[in-house]
Amino acid sequence: MSSKVYFGSLQHGKGNRFASLGAKFEEILEKLDFSSIEKKDKVAIKMHLGFNDGYQTIPVFFVRKLVEAVKKTGGYPFITDNPTAVYNAVNRGYTEETCGCPIIPVAGVKDGYKYSKEVNFKGVDSVDMAGVLHDADALINFAHAKGHGLCGFGGVIKNIALGGFAAKTRWNKIHGVVHYDKYWDADKCTPEHAKKLVESCPVKAINYKEDKHELRVAFYNCNQCMECIKADEGVGCLEIKQENLDAFQEFMAIAAKQVLDTFDKKKIFNINVALQITAFCDCMGMPMPIITNEIGILGSKDIVAIEQATLDLIKKEGILESSIPPFLKNVQLDPKLDLHPFQRLLGPMKDPYKVVEYAEKLEMGSSKYELIEILSPEETAKMEPPKERYETEPTFF
Ligand code: SF4
Repeated sequence: MSSKVYFGSLQHGKGNRFASLGAKFEEILEKLDFSSIEKKDKVAIKMHLGFNDGYQTIPVFFVRKLVEAVKKTGGYPFITDNPTAVYNAVNRGYTEETCGCPIIPVAGVKDGYKYSKEVNFKGVDSVDMAGVLHDADALINFAHAKGHGLCGFGGVIKNIALGGFAAKTRWNKIHGVVHYDKYWDADKCTPEHAKKLVESCPVKAINYKEDKHELRVAFYNCNQCMECIKADEGVGCLEIKQENLDAFQEFMAIAAKQVLDTFDKKKIFNINVALQITAFCDCMGMPMPIITNEIGILGSKDIVAIEQATLDLIKKEGILESSIPPFLKNVQLDPKLDLHPFQRLLGPMKDPYKVVEYAEKLEMGSSKYELIEILSPEETAKMEPPKERYETEPTFF
């Protein structure tokens, strides 16, 4: 069975409002059908509101439309994200006045309102789910689609897999799982050799603490150029392995499932905003060049299907080569290599489809989808636009 994914492209067939993305977004929300949201339901709109100067998050314009659509159901929407992003959201234009509903820290004001859930995955026995999200009656998983240094891509799965948990779980347990499978042999490595390995890395992704004789690879920055492995020839104390990166992808699927399991299936809605797609995630807190053409907005009841469809659309668009940040090294542009744009930019082991595969195995949804385009450019090109007047009431004329 394939799942329905509704898609509105930024491109439009007529230069009129009825054919534009705002109108398409309203129709996607209609198709998602919020009728399962009951009167007085507390509806969590899980977003990432960005950090510092990172303004390439979801435009308030769409947030407001979503909030108004939820209010029509009689439910009470609120936006939620980690406390830091909530506290300074005003700097990027998100306030109760602009969005139309309260903005509440996902795990309380000190990131300490949480529920412990058992997971037993690679040395992690439990995770702390963010209490505010946990208490909501309905979930609108409203994500900005963009790259991510550890897994290649962040969309609706990552939005709740990381964003649905208190800080220590997010940072130490879920991000930290990449270090669970051993990739460095301390006994085979002298301090001098460890320093040689540090020097060999063009992006400074290898850290060595001589006092503890401890070496760590910052996988977020590692692009798998394998220069360190060349430097390790004859010693063989270091490996750059797929399983370390896959552990993060698998844990994301597990964590996202934990969040989804607290909701009635009928009350879960997923939206990926595939605009301003950058190589790294919104946590970077700074503007970055967009690395692929603007795509549009996707909506689905199926978290797996929407993620697969979003990744496929990005793959189809490919990379805007002139926008590749110069600090990214080892970018793979060879068209003969079958790599997703995020693998080309961030390293071949950062396959963004992995999390989709893990999520499908956990029966969170289906990667088979039917893409239903809303008001396609071809369709609107043939349509007669309604009469429009510019600068209607109120006006100073
Ligand atoms: S593979 Fe390349 S980027 Fe990764 S740690 Fe080794 S040298 Fe650094």
